[in-house]
Amino acid sequence: MSTAGRLPGHPHIARKNATLHVEGVPLSALAREHGTPLFVYSKQWMLDALGAYQRGFEGRDAWVCYAIKANSSLGVLRVFAEAGCGFDIVSGGELARVLAAGADPAKVIFSGVGKTKSEMRQALAAGIGCFNVESEAEIDVLNAVALEEGRPASISVRINPNVDPKTHPYISTGLKGNKFGVAHDRAVAIYQHAASLPGLRVVGIDCHIGSQITEASPYLEALERVLDLVEAIEKTGIVLHHLDFGGGLGIDYNGDTPPAADALWRQLLARLDARGFGRRRLIVEPGRSLVGNAGVCVTEVLYTKPGAEKNFCIVDAAMNDLPRPAMYQAFHRIVPVVERQGEAVTYDVVGPVCESGDWIGRDRALTVEAGELLAVLSAGAYSMAMASNYNTRGRAAEVLVSGERANLIRRRETIEDQLRSERLGD
Ligand SMILES: *Cc1c(COP(=O)(O)O)cnc(C)c1O
Repeated sequence: MSTAGRLPGHPHIARKNATLHVEGVPLSALAREHGTPLFVYSKQWMLDALGAYQRGFEGRDAWVCYAIKANSSLGVLRVFAEAGCGFDIVSGGELARVLAAGADPAKVIFSGVGKTKSEMRQALAAGIGCFNVESEAEIDVLNAVALEEGRPASISVRINPNVDPKTHPYISTGLKGNKFGVAHDRAVAIYQHAASLPGLRVVGIDCHIGSQITEASPYLEALERVLDLVEAIEKTGIVLHHLDFGGGLGIDYNGDTPPAADALWRQLLARLDARGFGRRRLIVEPGRSLVGNAGVCVTEVLYTKPGAEKNFCIVDAAMNDLPRPAMYQAFHRIVPVVERQGEAVTYDVVGPVCESGDWIGRDRALTVEAGELLAVLSAGAYSMAMASNYNTRGRAAEVLVSGERANLIRRRETIEDQLRSERLGD
């Protein structure tokens, strides 16, 4: 693809003859074929994003475990499974998904503060690589379940390093006031307790400090604190075979400039080497940075509605398809699929859902009228995976593009799909 017409931060999305393409495929043709709202993903963007981590870890014993909560569609998981990724899961449902996509269970790690006993049994039976346990109570429950099942559970304890990731409060996870992980000052005692339990094998340590992190400094700070703890824990005779630094690396939504994964890891590896830990198995759990800018959501303009204070551009995608603006006041760029001349009007781009919180973008200058298509960018992560049926709206279809080929990886949800599990009652 030529560099002409590329959108910043989106090397596989470009305009050719005014029409936006994902890799070699025009979005207008996909919208005609599959309808809107429609998620379209670039396979090459995902592979390039993964490649940056793989380059960063070259020559090291490292696992990239894709955190599938960012986008758990089977067609997306298959891309990462075929590329040799491990997976970070947070539920029994996600375990079933990664197994269906062909994951190696030995490279699956199970995170989350509220694992149920039945999810623990399911994961032990599948032979997953590691449970990232998040509380003292969970350690005892997992030990009991592992003994009942007659299968030891490999564990890592999630440490809360109390580092500010400098991101949105809803996506900070490593501060003292967050529900995640165990407190730094309790860690040694917790490890000693875990190591004494016959159902558990202590294999690692992990942290995950937040999401959409755009600076290296919070990672460097967390790394030093985790390594201080590793030293303290290993003084007691426990050996930690792997060090897991979680996910959280940001993407370019609106001119954001996060470090590239390979550049970030060059800095982190220099510190690991300096402190003598560079040869340990390293694990990372990236989600957003592997899929976020691979995806766009194509939506049709239903109406434009001029107003006294605001003009509204009402589109057929809504907060049930793209929940991030409503949840986190998040910003997504919105561009026309076919660019044309004409006077731009400033609109709030909103969906049909009956909530004032149902907006996708505010104060956007657009040359657009009813029947035309818009593309909401950076929609690969935490969009379809968070989609709901609110207002009895079916979830959108998804297409995976590779070069000139477009594969429907999820058909549009029908009303029959939605009603299937419900009953009128007596
Ligand atoms: C959400 C999550 C991730 C992935 O976070 P991103 O910001 O999408 O990279 C990794 N690890 C854990 C434990 C998580 O909860």
